Amino acid sequence: MTFDIQKLLRDNIRKLKPYSSARDEFSGEAAVFLDANENPFNAPYNRYPDPRQKELKSKIAPVKNIPAENIFLGNGSDEPIDLLIRAFCSPEVDSIVAIAPTYGMYRVAADVNDVKVIEAPLNADYTLSVKTVLNTVTPYTKMVFLCSPNNPTGNALKREAMLEIMNNFEGLVVVDEAYIDFCPEKSLLPLLAEHPNLVVLQTFSKAWGMAGIRLGMAFAGQDIIDVLNRIKYPYNINILTQLKAMELIGLEKEKSDWVKVLVSEREKLAEKLQEFPFVVKVFPSDANFLLVKTLDPRGIYNYLVDEKIIVRDRSGVALCEGSLRISVGSEMENQRLIEALETLV
Ligand SMILES: *Cc1c(COP(=O)(O)O)cnc(C)c1O
Repeated sequence: MTFDIQKLLRDNIRKLKPYSSARDEFSGEAAVFLDANENPFNAPYNRYPDPRQKELKSKIAPVKNIPAENIFLGNGSDEPIDLLIRAFCSPEVDSIVAIAPTYGMYRVAADVNDVKVIEAPLNADYTLSVKTVLNTVTPYTKMVFLCSPNNPTGNALKREAMLEIMNNFEGLVVVDEAYIDFCPEKSLLPLLAEHPNLVVLQTFSKAWGMAGIRLGMAFAGQDIIDVLNRIKYPYNINILTQLKAMELIGLEKEKSDWVKVLVSEREKLAEKLQEFPFVVKVFPSDANFLLVKTLDPRGIYNYLVDEKIIVRDRSGVALCEGSLRISVGSEMENQRLIEALETLV
């Protein structure tokens, strides 16, 4: 399979002349900046942030072992998801394929852009069916969305299966690794060099504990990263987020400690939940949440709301009938959930 990004891009994006900001045209050291109509008072917030986030990327690169040129930073992962669809999919013409069930944002981003979503259902045990995905793509399918570990099912997809899709599909294969830190399987990041059609998404929202600062990452070949940079809002990552991320990226030790605690809490919680008579099945999880099939999802959900405990009702989602999605909290939070459920028995 040959990957030809020019053929894949929308015409208007291929021809686009991007907005050139003051900070794009001059980004060196200077004593006096009179080029951007900024206010000279109120430093450092008076200055526009670095549009390419060079310093922040130079700190992320060694952590991920990926060159800075292969990193795009967005306002959450939601931004690269939207930009990829906008860059490659012509409204009313092209389509994306997404596994089902999965994270809802791929569909929302496609719907906003009037791009068709074709679902490729997972097998009943939530494993990835390569055949289903490859049979589902059409000549107008520009990208396939995979999510591993998958939300809301919690399982990691098989590496070989994802590779087979990358090797047999000419469009982009976007693998969302939002939960990769909680998972024993390795990230696909090392495969980027040999797979020009691979895009890996990660985020600071989960294991890193920074959902509030809105910072998502896309890793891909430089030609794909260049496209995203050309169409993003010039100053998409604000200065507060850039400064805070540079400060908190030093917390790698804390991050891995949090992950250890959450993985051990996940296993404890799974064991306890399994004992309730109204729990049909706790699905194995490679993430920081559990998908729990119950006899009465709505009743349990409403009861927990009364107890001021909020979980996610996924029982309306195909293949997740009866299931609630429960995030793994602190030991005390998980204990409160178990105690609340005990009084329900
Ligand atoms: C939580 C989550 C994200 C994170 O999105 P952000 O916009 O980076 O906060 C991405 N993908 C999946 C599948 C998620 O569940």
